[in-house]
Amino acid sequence: HAKAGGRNRLAFYSAELDEQAQQRRTLEHALRGAVERREFVLHYQPAVELRSGRVTGFEALVRWNRPGHGLVAPNEFIDVLEDTGLIRDVGDWVIGEVVRQLAAWEHAGHEHLRAAVNVSAAQLRPSAVNPDLHAEPVYSLLEKVQACLARHPLRTAQLEIELTESALMTDAAFACETLERLRAVVGRVHVDDFGTGYSSLAYLKRLPIDSLKIDRVFVQDLPDDAEDASIVRAVIGLAHSLGLDVIAEGIETEAQRQFLLAAGCDHGQGYLFSRPVPADEVPALLQGSRGPPGA
Ligand code: C2E
Ligand code: MG
Ligand code: MG
Ligand code: MG
Repeated sequence: HAKAGGRNRLAFYSAELDEQAQQRRTLEHALRGAVERREFVLHYQPAVELRSGRVTGFEALVRWNRPGHGLVAPNEFIDVLEDTGLIRDVGDWVIGEVVRQLAAWEHAGHEHLRAAVNVSAAQLRPSAVNPDLHAEPVYSLLEKVQACLARHPLRTAQLEIELTESALMTDAAFACETLERLRAVVGRVHVDDFGTGYSSLAYLKRLPIDSLKIDRVFVQDLPDDAEDASIVRAVIGLAHSLGLDVIAEGIETEAQRQFLLAAGCDHGQGYLFSRPVPADEVPALLQGSRGPPGA
């Protein structure tokens, strides 16, 4: 009986794995179509200066407007885009769209707005050398950014980038070199999800970065969780002593905001201030913000 049960279980697991693999292939196929049909939209979430509450910039967050499914969150598809290399196509579109949008806001009188785009590790590397495809053009994020900026010249370093700690640390020496060159054409470089990867402090010191974004997992249980409180204070101290700015992610409550402000955190993002919104709702957010954006 036990044996038969084991076999059935194995059959069950393998059927489940087959189904997962099938679902994955379906999703991959749908995403290839989505890239061709440009089914993506960007929402923008403000970052505020904690002291004053004024909006200092936005983060562009991609959504997939999947026919019959509504808006699909990035956590459902970013990893597939990364595994298939499609992230470069979508990432290029994101950069082009943000630059176009910044220029449109500029034209509408919202001057010097800043917007950060999330960049995956796969976008930092030139395409893998394929000996069978000598003609394959080498992908370059830098060239892409330069081409977009040539089409819509922005007045200041308004385009910013966010790279996760893990993306930076996978090949820190390479990231360092790439960032040096990117830094000449973009504004600030933020380290996203800080605290969830394994940063080498030696590299952190050398990387051309401007700010650390404290991951939401360390913010959600503030101010009561004593360990998170210690971690957050330590990260703020580390960042400031390295001359970096600190942005706390996922601030949902006034108590969290007050703790972070008292701990010396510079900026914050989270539902307490605003959820990510479609581009046409951004002007209203600026109106509600105390003081002018920029700085
Ligand atoms: P992230 O860059 O760390 O972005 C922050 C995420 O936290 C966003 O989720 C945002 O909507 C969410 N968030 C903001 N405030 C709060 C809050 O107060 N509470 C809670 N519970 N959540 C909050 P979203 O938009 O679903 O994006 C998830 C992740 O997908 C992003 O994390 C980023 O890693 C990735 N992503 C989004 N857009 C892009 C993109 O254009 N390119 C790449 N490569 N990755 C992207
Ligand atoms: Mg981000
Ligand atoms: Mg993050
Ligand atoms: Mg994240």
